[in-house]
Amino acid sequence: MADEQAKEQQSLLSEKALAEATSDPAARIEALRREIEHNSYLYYAKDAPAISDAAFDSLMHELRALEAAHPELIDPSSPTQRVGGYVGDQFAPIQHERRMYSLDDAMGAEELDEWLDRVREFFGSIPELVCELKIDGSSVAFTYENGRLMRAATRGDGTTGEDITVNVRTVKDVPLRLRADADDGIRDTGVPIELRGECYMPKASFEALNASAEANGKQPFANPRNAAAGSLRQKDPQITAHRDLSTFVYAVGDERKLAVETQWDLLQWLGRAGFHVNPDIALVHSAEEVHEFCRKSLERRDALPYDIDGVVVKVNSFAQQEAMGYTARAPRWAIAFKFPPEEKTTLLRDITVQVGRTGKLTPVAEMDPVLVAGSTVARATLHNEDEVRRKDVRVGDTVIVRKAGDVIPEVLGPVESLRPADAVPWNMPAVCPSCGSPVVREEGEADYRCISIDCPAQALERLLHWASRGAMDIDGMGEEVVRRLVESGRVSDVADYYTLDEVELAQLDMGRTNKEGEPIRLGHTVAKKLVAAIDESRTRPFARPLFGLGMRHVGKTMAETLARAFPSMEALMAASEEELAAVDGVGPKIAHSTYLFLRTPDNVQVIERLAKHGVRLADDVEAAAADALPQTLEGLTFVLTGSLVQSGMTRDEAGAALKARGAKVSGSVSKKTSYVVAGEAAGSKYDKAVALGVPVLDEPALLAILETGEVPEVAGE
Ligand SMILES: [Zn+2]
Repeated sequence: MADEQAKEQQSLLSEKALAEATSDPAARIEALRREIEHNSYLYYAKDAPAISDAAFDSLMHELRALEAAHPELIDPSSPTQRVGGYVGDQFAPIQHERRMYSLDDAMGAEELDEWLDRVREFFGSIPELVCELKIDGSSVAFTYENGRLMRAATRGDGTTGEDITVNVRTVKDVPLRLRADADDGIRDTGVPIELRGECYMPKASFEALNASAEANGKQPFANPRNAAAGSLRQKDPQITAHRDLSTFVYAVGDERKLAVETQWDLLQWLGRAGFHVNPDIALVHSAEEVHEFCRKSLERRDALPYDIDGVVVKVNSFAQQEAMGYTARAPRWAIAFKFPPEEKTTLLRDITVQVGRTGKLTPVAEMDPVLVAGSTVARATLHNEDEVRRKDVRVGDTVIVRKAGDVIPEVLGPVESLRPADAVPWNMPAVCPSCGSPVVREEGEADYRCISIDCPAQALERLLHWASRGAMDIDGMGEEVVRRLVESGRVSDVADYYTLDEVELAQLDMGRTNKEGEPIRLGHTVAKKLVAAIDESRTRPFARPLFGLGMRHVGKTMAETLARAFPSMEALMAASEEELAAVDGVGPKIAHSTYLFLRTPDNVQVIERLAKHGVRLADDVEAAAADALPQTLEGLTFVLTGSLVQSGMTRDEAGAALKARGAKVSGSVSKKTSYVVAGEAAGSKYDKAVALGVPVLDEPALLAILETGEVPEVAGE
C-alpha cells in the first residue's frame, strides 16, 4: 500500500477512534482487536498483508492507549497481551485430550508401497488420501475453549506434555482467539478442543540466530528443530518472543468435536479458524499421485524457507481412519515417508585430536560448513586411527558427508579423483596435543590415550564434568570460563573452584578484546552469580559430588547406588574392596577401580581439600529423596548400540541413567522397542531398528532425554 493511503487510513482511524472511544470504549476496543487479529492473520497465516506496517502499528498503539485508560477492559486474549498477559504453571504436566501418536516411518519408496498395499487391501481399492509435508519442528498441542487459547503443551511422551502456554502465546501466527468463521465447524464452542501442529523456526531465522550466538561466544543450535524446541522451553517468554517462530497446524485431538468428516475438510476449517496451514497439501486418489507428491517435495526441499524431513500421507475420511485403527504405537491409517539420508561433499580442512576426560584421543574431521539434511555440519568424529586409515581420508581431501534426519553426520570417504597431489595419509600424533606427553595404545584397544595426570585437556573435561548439570550443577560454569580459569593457572582441580571469590572472578580475562582493544573481563554481575552458584553446589546430595569426581565406571546411577550403601565419603573410604563388591549392582570391577581411586594420594588430597572448603560429602536422608528423578520414561523400552563418543558414557552408564528415569533397557531390538539409541559405529541393531520402523535417536537426543526426562520427537508428527 502506498504511504499516502496508509496515512489517510491512519488519520481516518484516529478520528473514528476519538468519536467512539469517548462514547463506548468497550466497543471500540473490541473492534480494534478484531481488526488487528484479522490483519495479523492476513500477514502471518496468509502471507498477504492488506495494510502497511505503519497502519498496523497505529492500530496497536490506539488499542494500548485505550486499554491503559480502561484497565478493567484488558483481556488475556487481547493482541497486546501476547507477552506477560497470562500467568500459568510453566512446564507443569498437561495431559493430552487423546494420545499424540507417532507415525510409522516409511524409509524409501518400497516401504511406502507396502503401506499403500495394506491400505488397498483393507478398503479393496485406494481411498482418498491427503499428502502433507512433514515439518521438522517441535509438536505443540493447543487447547481452545470458547474460542480462546487456554493452554499449549509440548508433545512429551505422547500422553502427557509440558505447559508452554506463556511461550506459545508469543508466537505471532498462533491465534489467541479463533476467527468468527471458526464457529460453524465446532459442535460445542464451550467444550475444550485440542488442535495440534508443529512449531518451527524458518531456516533464515535459524541462521541469523546462530550467527548472533556465535558473535556472542555462545553455543549455536545444531539445527532449526532444536532451535525451535529450545525457544519454546525458555523460562523467560520475552526470549521466546524475540525468536522468529512460526507454526503449521494440521490435526485435532478428538475429531468428533468438529463438524468435519475428513482430514482435507479439517485443514480447510483450520485455515478459516485463523491458523497457519501449510499450503503444500494434496488430495489424491492413487499410489502414483502419492509417489509424485513425495518426489516433488524432495526436489523442492532445499527451496522451502523451512525444514521438512518427509511427507505424511493420511487416509482422508475420519470414518475410514477409525475403521483401520491403530497398532500399539501408531495409527495404521497414516505413514511418514522419510526422505533418504542426504550426502554432500565438502573440503576436509584438518583432522584434529580431541582429548576426553579419561584421556581418550579422538580424531575429528574439521570441514568447511555444509548444510546436510537440515543441519550445518562442520565437524564429525572419525572415531579412531584405524577408522581414518580404513576410510583413507586425508587433510585436503574433498569428502562425502552423509546425514539422515535424526542420526549424527558421518564422513563416508574421500572423492579420490579430487585429492591434491601432496595429501598424505593421516597418523595419530605421537604426543598428546594438549600436554605433549607420549600417547599410549594398549593391546587389543582401538583408542590411544594420554595417561598423564597433569594433562590440561583432561583437567578441563574433569572440571566441566564436575560443574555439569548431572553432577554439581554449577550454573554459568561453562566451557569458556573454565578454559580461561585453567589457562590462567588459577584452577587445576575441582577443589580449586571453592577457593574463587567474586573480586577475582570479575577480573578474569576472557581472552578477547573489545572495540577499543581492551581485554574483556568476566565482570561483576556474572562473577556474583557464579560465586552464588558455586556456593549453592556445596550442599548437593552425596551422589552428586561422587559422580562429579569422574571415577572410572561410576556414572550417575552407580554413584547413587554407592551413596545409598555408604552415605558419606568417610564411610565410603573406610569400606574394603570386598565390602564395595558386596553392594547390589556394584561387582568386583567397579569395586576395584573405586577402591583404587580413593587410595590414590592425588585424589585423596582433592577430596580433603573439598571437605576443607565446605563441600558437604555426606547425605542427609531428606536431600537424597529430593534428588530422586521423576519417572518420566516409564513404559518405554530402549536399546543402546554403538559407542557414545560425545559424552564418553559407556552403554551401561547410559542404560542405568535411563533406568533411573523409569525406562526399561533391553539388549535386542523388537517391535516392542520404543527407541534405539545409535552411537558411533552402530551395527546390526541399528539396521534392525530401521527395518522394523523403530525410531532411532542419536547421542545428542539421548543426552537431551537424560537432561530433560523428555523424549524429543523423532517420528512424531
Ligand atoms: Zn595430555
